[in-house]
Amino acid sequence: ADSPLLPVVGQDLAAPLIQGGHVRYANLDYAASAPAVEDVAAHLNEVLPFYASVHRGAGFASQVSTSVYENARTIVADFVGARPDDTVIFTRNTTDSLNLLAGCVESILQARGYAEGRSNVHGELLYLDIEHHANLLPWQKLPHRSVVAASSIESTLARVETQLRAGNVLLLAVTGASNVTGEVLPIAQLAALAHQYGARIVVDAAQLAPHRRIDLAASGIDYVAFSGHKLYAPFGAGVLVGRSDWLDAGAPHLAGGGAVKEVRLESTRWTDGPARHEGGSPNVLGAATLAKAATILAELDASDWHSHEQQLREHLVAGFQNLDGVTVHSLFSDSASYAECGSIGVVNFSVTGYDAGLVAAYLSAEHGVGVRDGKFCAHPLLNRLGLPAGSLRASFGVGSRREDAQRLIDGVAALLRDGLGWDYVVDSGRWVP
Ligand code: PMP
Repeated sequence: ADSPLLPVVGQDLAAPLIQGGHVRYANLDYAASAPAVEDVAAHLNEVLPFYASVHRGAGFASQVSTSVYENARTIVADFVGARPDDTVIFTRNTTDSLNLLAGCVESILQARGYAEGRSNVHGELLYLDIEHHANLLPWQKLPHRSVVAASSIESTLARVETQLRAGNVLLLAVTGASNVTGEVLPIAQLAALAHQYGARIVVDAAQLAPHRRIDLAASGIDYVAFSGHKLYAPFGAGVLVGRSDWLDAGAPHLAGGGAVKEVRLESTRWTDGPARHEGGSPNVLGAATLAKAATILAELDASDWHSHEQQLREHLVAGFQNLDGVTVHSLFSDSASYAECGSIGVVNFSVTGYDAGLVAAYLSAEHGVGVRDGKFCAHPLLNRLGLPAGSLRASFGVGSRREDAQRLIDGVAALLRDGLGWDYVVDSGRWVP
């Protein structure tokens, strides 16, 4: 892991230092948004000249744009091992995808009369307490819910099964990998459990998809959602892939042009398939670049892909273990099956005696290192871990190198040894020197 696995844009960005001068920016915030792979960025320029309306024009550029867009759907379907009858819907991001699915579930519950108290209908949402808010808040809007605390892999499976056994769960919503600790969930086992008790499963793969292969057909996962901007593609596009019956039964996510069969002034017949939820002009460039990133990741040798991040992660954790004053946070490290699931390239930590936001500001200002601090849009988990003021997260991907991780270790070591070099104050909620 001395050099990047794939070249990414901005890998030689120069970050300004508070004491003057610049240093190569060590981007350790891939889990928030990953830099585009260079070939993905190049693809953007290949597609740009054909920028034209999709599905609506007969002109040459429209034809090309339409085929680029529809081809992107096929590539994404292959990338996640979709079943032949699965639907691939392009959205804005993971949040949008999960809200879309929640809207469909709401329609189904309404149609089944669940809200009116017909409690013999499977209608409950089950999720874990470690979820990102994107996989929590859409479900909170639905009438019946249960939550399972995910504190070890074995106990999570057992508690999920207990809830499922009660027999009323419609959908189990779980993250594929925690955006807080990077630890991977046993999603195929959870899918099998859900199905055993007549429920479906949706996997929030915002963190998993950029780091592990997903195979809907082989694992039985019903729905998967992820975002282009964490998958080494630009902002603005995400996907929801999964079983078409619920998606076709749901109220259209975006009512508008393209989502209809026939419109009269007072009533509309909606179309089925992805177009039902993709009203308005779609994000062709976002879909094309997301698909390009998927193609590139699919071509990677899986063991190179995983070991690149694993080596960086181990290097960072070992470096932190040598420092008195750094705590690494984990959900599952005591689990017997921890090694089978493992972790993506994320390390979550705290530095004794220092506010997380202050450490992040110091690392940026004095070492040119970018890490994320706070509660990672996962407030229930951070509160449960006893970190109500937040923690720090370093995360890597295909563009990361060992020297990035080393710079973070050296930066934290310098803080522990020498203290802050400058006075820091809170300005608009963030620490600044
Ligand atoms: N789920 C997880 C696990 C995430 O890490 C994130 C992004 N932090 C999201 C959902 C939401 O992704 P987006 O902001 O692209 O909608």
